[in-house]
Amino acid sequence: MTQTHIIPAPPQPNAPVIDHESTFPVRRIFCVGRNYADHVREMGGDPSDTPPVFFSKPADALVPVDDSGGSVAAYPPRTLDYHHEVELVIALASGGRNIPKDQALTTVFGYAVGIDFTRRDLQRAAAEAGQPWDMAKGFDQSAILGPIKPHQGQDYAEGMIKLSIDGALRQHANIAQMIWEIPAIITSLSEYVELMPGDLIFTGTPDGVGPVSVGQRITASVDGLPPIELTIGPCRH
Ligand code: MN
Repeated sequence: MTQTHIIPAPPQPNAPVIDHESTFPVRRIFCVGRNYADHVREMGGDPSDTPPVFFSKPADALVPVDDSGGSVAAYPPRTLDYHHEVELVIALASGGRNIPKDQALTTVFGYAVGIDFTRRDLQRAAAEAGQPWDMAKGFDQSAILGPIKPHQGQDYAEGMIKLSIDGALRQHANIAQMIWEIPAIITSLSEYVELMPGDLIFTGTPDGVGPVSVGQRITASVDGLPPIELTIGPCRH
């Protein structure tokens, strides 16, 4: 007998894969915060006493984009300080619990360029109050993802990562500056949760984060991966 649902089943979030008709079904979106020392400093922290941290976004926060110029993500409600964070994103083909570091890369399907959009004013208020970050990070259209490039079982240890707004360069760094490298991220996260096929991991942003506004055009890239282009649309609330 076919399974039925009492309300319509939610759609499966999917991400495109370059040179493939098939898409990558997204299960969960995990993120690393504070993974570049210069970004920790620009946020007022000290990288020697504030190690990287994990948080998450709902899978349906995903906005798949490419560089066609037609992609739009809406400016969200309840913020006056909406920030871009360009990040390398890991897409997992498999998972596990307590994955040893020397086996971590076997879980990798591929990599993509992403943007972790952040309501910075809400994040600062939550941090000061000792409250959760969720509404600063995990909201509609907050997880931008470019096409995934398959790199099965491979590391992504080096390469320039960049973000521009209306042609002006705002973020540029090298993936090699990450405090936690890819295998360390996968191993550590697998000690908190059982990783699964379809999980995405945003690996943190370098310095240069700042506000965006409606109508601005954002381009973002990581050497060797498909670049993305995105326009900030009007708030839908
Ligand atoms: Mn981030």
